[in-house]
Amino acid sequence: MNRQEQKDGDDGAAQALADIRARIGEAEQAAGRAAGSVTLIAVSKTFGGEAIEPLIGAGQTVFGENRVQEAAAKWPPLRARHGGLALHLIGPLQSNKVAQAVALFDAIHTVDRPKIARLIGEEMAKTGRRLELFVQVNTGEEPQKAGVMPAQAAAFVAQCRDEFALTISGLMCIPPLDEEAGLHFALLRTLAEQAGVSGLSMGMSADFEKAIGHGASHVRVGSALFGHRGALA
Ligand SMILES: *Cc1c(COP(=O)(O)O)cnc(C)c1O
Repeated sequence: MNRQEQKDGDDGAAQALADIRARIGEAEQAAGRAAGSVTLIAVSKTFGGEAIEPLIGAGQTVFGENRVQEAAAKWPPLRARHGGLALHLIGPLQSNKVAQAVALFDAIHTVDRPKIARLIGEEMAKTGRRLELFVQVNTGEEPQKAGVMPAQAAAFVAQCRDEFALTISGLMCIPPLDEEAGLHFALLRTLAEQAGVSGLSMGMSADFEKAIGHGASHVRVGSALFGHRGALA
């Protein structure tokens, strides 16, 4: 890449970020919500440092990754060069990766079973780190998808608090591809009210404005910022 191509790439990233930020601002306003009440998580999975750094340069500080291994390879060098970044785990967490995840991430959106909740609590106590935690809810009750069932959400949040001494910030969902996402966003909001938590991690490139209308506190946007991923992502 020559210098001009590098500069064009950086301008493209800055422009994509400005566009998404403007759309988030409009959605906040349309929903009667305060400007800046929605946190944009830039989902950088499958993209390398050369694609991520222009966004950091344009002022983005919160990033999301769905694989612990991939994040462990990518983010320590980026963090060594840039301060003030926050990294969110938005993909499934296996028990043998909990220690690594607690060391690497600032937030986990995929707490979905007692064993993982207990291990996260133990690891945070051991290391003194405090992560922001979301419980993933399988709002579509899809057999292949992670997350607690909607009917169990409030009880699981209470168990996290009472049995594992965890503070749960909110709930997270990934609606089924072939269903109206708004129904799932509305359901997640109701479940959060029942569970007594305020955070709502919902909305991706195709539907983040709709999610903001339903009260999303965190939107997770990948392809609209970084472009299309390979087939395996
Ligand atoms: C990849 C991913 C996203 C971002 O998806 P886009 O459609 O590219 O915005 C959001 N949430 C989760 C859990 C993901 O795995």
